[in-house]
Amino acid sequence: MARTGVKIRMLELNKVNSFYGRAHILHDVSMQIEQGDVVALLGRNGAGKTTTMKSIMQMVPVAEGTVSFLGEDITRRAVHKVCQLGLGYVPEERRVFTDLTVTENLEVGRQPPREGLPEWTLDMLFELFPNLHERRNNLGKQMSGGEQQMLTIARTLMGNPRLVLLDEPSEGLAPVIIEQIARVIDSLTKHGLTILLSEQNLHFAKLVSDRAYILEKGIVQYSGSIKELEEKPEILDSYLSV
Ligand code: ATP
Repeated sequence: MARTGVKIRMLELNKVNSFYGRAHILHDVSMQIEQGDVVALLGRNGAGKTTTMKSIMQMVPVAEGTVSFLGEDITRRAVHKVCQLGLGYVPEERRVFTDLTVTENLEVGRQPPREGLPEWTLDMLFELFPNLHERRNNLGKQMSGGEQQMLTIARTLMGNPRLVLLDEPSEGLAPVIIEQIARVIDSLTKHGLTILLSEQNLHFAKLVSDRAYILEKGIVQYSGSIKELEEKPEILDSYLSV
């Protein structure tokens, strides 16, 4: 297991190249995420953020380069094996089971606990997401967009992941819901989780993360402190819609 200082290297992408058919989308994308980090993956529409997340999950085949999780090469593993190792993916399109209740949706996501991490229970999740508790007997289809986003995050947590990939968690949500999601991210790190979130909302990304990667046309154009980005207007202008 690779270590940096006292921190454990959770995820490493080494020169990842991914395609959709013949379209070459990711170009030598390299990233490192240590245990407990909250890292933002920034970039405009179509920059390759979702493709990066799907490449990590092996939902999109990685043609060249490697993805390692806790020092183990997971490139070209089956998606369910990747999940079993402790990676959880919350896709942009909130996928809840519309005809199942909130509680049933959560039960579907249940996986065994991981050594060294507390096991998520329904009670813990309902404490973290009080509105899911209030609506625990409602069907998925009766939930608002914000509630569906919370439910998708909560269901992923039922899988007891070590690393959570959140694809544009703030997209299309009201500011009050975005604030709740920021609080949830904060408590996840207190539970020992590691987070990679893709965002177009720089303000939200700054609230929750310390470090950022910026993608443009599938190429990493910036990697470093998110605070220092404020002093780099040329980067913000070139690669982000701010
Ligand atoms: P968004 O915020 O729009 O989701 P993104 O940064 O997540 O943007 P991706 O969804 O990774 O970007 O898209 C990267 C590129 O890949 C875009 O040019 C997009 O058109 C293309 N693309 C995405 N999905 C497919 C697909 N299934 N087939 C072909 N091209 C695709």
